[in-house]
Amino acid sequence: MSDRRGFLKRSGLALAAGAAGAAAGTSGCATAAAPVVSTGRLADVPKAKGPRLVVVGGGTSGLTIAKYAKKEFPRFDVVLVEKRDMYSSCFTSNLWYAGLITLENLANHSFLDAAVNNHYTYFNATVTGLDRAGKTVVTSEGDIKYDYLVIAPGISYDYDKIGVTDVETRTALREVYPGGFISPTEHVTLHRKIREFEGGVFIQTVPSGNYRCLPAPYERACLIASLIKHNKIKGKVIILDANPEVTIKAEGFHAAFDQLYKGVLEYRPGVAVKGVDVAKRTIESDFDSYQFDDAAIYPNVRASTLIEQLGLMAPSTKSNQKEANIDTRFYNIIGDTSVYVTGDSRPHPYSKSANTSNTEAHYVAKVLAARAQGKEIAWSTPETICYSVVNAFPMEAISVKAHYVYDAGKDAITGFSPDTQVFNNRDAAKGKATIEWANGLYRDMFNA
Ligand SMILES: Cc1cc2nc3c(=O)[nH]c(=O)nc-3n(C[C@H](O)[C@H](O)[C@H](O)COP(=O)(O)OP(=O)(O)OC[C@H]3O[C@@H](n4cnc5c(N)ncnc54)[C@H](O)[C@@H]3O)c2cc1C
Repeated sequence: MSDRRGFLKRSGLALAAGAAGAAAGTSGCATAAAPVVSTGRLADVPKAKGPRLVVVGGGTSGLTIAKYAKKEFPRFDVVLVEKRDMYSSCFTSNLWYAGLITLENLANHSFLDAAVNNHYTYFNATVTGLDRAGKTVVTSEGDIKYDYLVIAPGISYDYDKIGVTDVETRTALREVYPGGFISPTEHVTLHRKIREFEGGVFIQTVPSGNYRCLPAPYERACLIASLIKHNKIKGKVIILDANPEVTIKAEGFHAAFDQLYKGVLEYRPGVAVKGVDVAKRTIESDFDSYQFDDAAIYPNVRASTLIEQLGLMAPSTKSNQKEANIDTRFYNIIGDTSVYVTGDSRPHPYSKSANTSNTEAHYVAKVLAARAQGKEIAWSTPETICYSVVNAFPMEAISVKAHYVYDAGKDAITGFSPDTQVFNNRDAAKGKATIEWANGLYRDMFNA
């Protein structure tokens, strides 16, 4: 079933677009660069044998660009700098909580194999500074010279926006009630909490803004409710949603809430978190106080703090999520065609999701290959494909497939293209397709 108009109307993406400033590439200065503290030594990577492309961040975006830039222009000498030494996927982590996939499915992917299979160098280090004049990126393990630099560091949490401004509460929330939208260790903690939940109220919050993976908090709530129902636990999930309505696939999620989870899932729209009392286990909103036994508190998101640290942040008039100051079509920092920012740190009103980052990365690899040969290519849209599993017994999903429109007059992404489709009818075929989709993405990032 295709329901594009309903999707556009209900989707928070449209709201997020306004907030983020759809004109990602409009003029304006990036923030002042932080002082660069060089390590004073070169990193232990082989000497470049062609134009050096350094890619920072081995997530969906960075892994795809490292592989495909090399394929598009084999003369590139590519180095992928990633701070983690083990890959584990964010996408489909909700399925692991419900026992629908194993941890191995999320984590059995090697940075080393990806690099060997695709003829680039994986360098395990954390980027800490950038000298754009000297075309040098500073890492915890030494400096690396570049001809082209792509920075794809993902997101950071913004607890200030949910009224948590003191470091003690922020730390307690990160440790005890993690959002589960960034690091593998959060996923392990959430997995334990969900599997050990013995009853009472489990709260899942949904932030405002263009947060990472719009449907994922609703999907997670459905899967927790599915476990509660299946295991006959005396408890329920409450979704506290800062938005006035489910931000995406609303019809499909509401059908699941009403038809599958009456009595075990409550949906409360328009409840923005304004503070959390960790000791008392209460969440404060403008009007009410909500008691919980356990929770996954998903704060607002912003671009990775690395973007700000490197002085690449757009002015607040262009992005209220501290995203990068890049050209709308070509992703380079305004005024600098050697540095690019991609993935969830971009300011575009795209869905912050894996399929978007992956298809965008295919395109940016072509941009880089063309520019290294003195050419330009035409803009092409990323593709957002996103499955949400709403039932674990049996495994059933809903999905969406979207493309975007670029308006040259405004130099902005202005909305969804007419072929956008939402598939709100849950079924087992889409449940199976969810896993096939994720496996396809792993193959695209890690295999030759
Ligand atoms: C629970 C959950 C469910 C999701 N479900 C879906 C889904 O069903 N469908 C979908 O399409 N998407 C889904 N997503 C979203 C998807 O995972 C992300 O949007 C996507 O991975 C973003 O890619 P990225 O490359 O921008 O960021 P990431 O994948 O986060 O990668 C960023 C990388 O940069 C590295 N890095 C950061 N700072 C530094 C530094 N200073 N030095 C070196 N390395 C650094 C990080 O370690 C990380 O590996 C989900 C996410 C979560 C958490």
